[in-house]
Amino acid sequence: MPAETKTTCPYCGVGCGVIATVADDGVVSVKGDPDHPANFGRLCSKGSALAETIDLDGRLLYPEIAGQRTGWNTALDLVADRFSRAIAEHGPDSVAFYVSGQLLTEDYYVANKLMKGFIGSANIDTNSRLCMSSSVAGHRRAFGADTVPGVYEDLELADLVILTGSNLAWCHPVIYQRLAAAKAARPGMKVVVIDPRRTMTSDIADLHLAIRPDSDVALFMGLFAHLIASGAVDQNYVAEHTSGFNEAFATAATLSASDILEQTGLPAMQLREFYRLFTATEKVVTCYSQGVNQSSTGTDKVNSIINCHLATGRIGRPGMGPFSLTGQPNAMGGREVGGLANMLAAHMAIENADDRDRVQRFWQSPAIARKPGLKAVDLFKAVADGRIKALWIMATNPVVSMPDADAVEAAIKACPFVVVSDVLSDTDTTRHADVLLPSLGWGEKNGTVTNSERRISRQRDFLDAPGDARADWWQLAEVGRRMGFNGFGYASPADIFAEHAALSAFENDGSRDFDIGAFAGVDEPSYRLMSPFQWPATPEPATVSSGGKRFFADGRFYHPDGRARFVALEPAVADRTNSDYPFTLNTGRIRDQWHTMTRTGKSARLSSHIAEPFAELHPRDAIEIGVGNATLVEIESPHGKAIVRALITERQARGSVFVPMHWNDQFAAKARIDAVVAPVTDPLSGQPASKNVAVSARAF
Ligand code: SF4
Repeated sequence: MPAETKTTCPYCGVGCGVIATVADDGVVSVKGDPDHPANFGRLCSKGSALAETIDLDGRLLYPEIAGQRTGWNTALDLVADRFSRAIAEHGPDSVAFYVSGQLLTEDYYVANKLMKGFIGSANIDTNSRLCMSSSVAGHRRAFGADTVPGVYEDLELADLVILTGSNLAWCHPVIYQRLAAAKAARPGMKVVVIDPRRTMTSDIADLHLAIRPDSDVALFMGLFAHLIASGAVDQNYVAEHTSGFNEAFATAATLSASDILEQTGLPAMQLREFYRLFTATEKVVTCYSQGVNQSSTGTDKVNSIINCHLATGRIGRPGMGPFSLTGQPNAMGGREVGGLANMLAAHMAIENADDRDRVQRFWQSPAIARKPGLKAVDLFKAVADGRIKALWIMATNPVVSMPDADAVEAAIKACPFVVVSDVLSDTDTTRHADVLLPSLGWGEKNGTVTNSERRISRQRDFLDAPGDARADWWQLAEVGRRMGFNGFGYASPADIFAEHAALSAFENDGSRDFDIGAFAGVDEPSYRLMSPFQWPATPEPATVSSGGKRFFADGRFYHPDGRARFVALEPAVADRTNSDYPFTLNTGRIRDQWHTMTRTGKSARLSSHIAEPFAELHPRDAIEIGVGNATLVEIESPHGKAIVRALITERQARGSVFVPMHWNDQFAAKARIDAVVAPVTDPLSGQPASKNVAVSARAF
């Protein structure tokens, strides 16, 4: 009988359960796990093709120093020595980790503990900064903690689902399937899509609002004022559970209807219909993703949405609430262990002296980071200007995915000491490593991930480790040990998870949202069998319901006074174009590729969906710049250029161009679009503005 293993898809934040089967001849097949409450057996194209991406072609199998194979002891000793020397000579802030939402929670936990508790710096940031850090900042401002209130089931229970800055059909396909099925079963349900571009998701929409880039704050401030004007505010809720309403109203009231129409570019009829739908519908869920987060005003966008839900008391109840959809499989797990440079473990705050003291006492560590570290864009600037002397990159490919990618590549090249832990030997980033450490891949590693609805699921191994590949947590713990630190003697991921759970409950009287203390004593056999569960929660039986715990049902939030905060906002000017760079570039995902294609690029089936990088252009723009369909077009900004094929379509708004983020030089020469993206960030979250970049477009 072939062996079946229940595990979790390693791609998007939906976090689908997967059953992997290894046949007697070693051939692996996958299918959706019918018992997993995220997907109930469904998988999208990427998840279905997982078995096609796990061959050993191109795998990094042995540690390397300067391109030469070596043993683990030699490589780890060198890493520990170079990090220790940099710290001794230049201080703890002279070293940095750049990690990834692809890491398992256990890997993330050890990385964060080593950097913040033992090295004593907060210079650990993650590619999740590029994904959802504006949501983190927005949640913390509004709720006093980084809490996602809702559950996936809310999208099925709602009478109105608003998808803003989210191409759900391609980026979270299984959630889209659940939503489409609910709408088909209940045709009275309405869907509004807010996106400058008409996408596959818009095809399900009753109303598509093609707003101007970055005009979301104006749109939702206008909605907030409209709710007040039309008497739709839940006055009791606002009085009992919130503060800051009058200040938020005062700024919203300064925006006239004509201001909103001008800033959003919407026809008045569409705007009125959107406001009418929201006002008249009790059960509203507003989902948002990278179109909201990846903006210089991303945090304000998040709070403009939350303001409307707080004003109507539509939060924490079935079928209601703001809902951040995370891009990566474990962005949420990373947040839980403090994997961002501005957070501590277990959702504690680095700015809070009590939290710092608590974490340090729990870890019994010699140090604790006292101030936020460098966020991704600033971190690579610090690499570029020589402040960072030793850098460890894990499970991510910043030479392709960071904004201003050419400058990031030059910075990494010039850094005195670079370690890269990866599954592949040759990526745009591994090429610049002094030390390469071979990591375990999906199907080989063991641990947990948290999806967008706070559900923690196991990723389990069903394949032997190839070559000398080892887990990322083990690599970190070994370096910690070799740097002379106690506290890294983990025998397994179960040990780490148990410690992480214990920290979440340590001196937690209910004033902190993240608490999985019920798992503090988890042992190896129980960890092995652990079913998916949603925090805060006690262990659930193997069969779990589709619903789950919602936060804020009782109207209590995590600010010291227990109240949520309205945020007074100001709409920002969104147009960055000028006569030299007259187009607005918007980058994003396509249905069948993941990140920089290092895994999905292996599947011919996935590549057959869209085989080449492209630039979506409106037909009239294409005529003006003399570009025909499928001819080459050069996209340029002051930071760099990329050359891709023109895809002329009326789905694209005039003056805008969309280019997918995935391609790197291995798959198509000069198609790294992040080389073009300016390193502009949200001042609060540090998230790059990858959806609104001024560029030129011309025939190549
Ligand atoms: Fe994997 Fe996301 Fe597809 Fe689910 S929806 S199978 S988690 S890529």
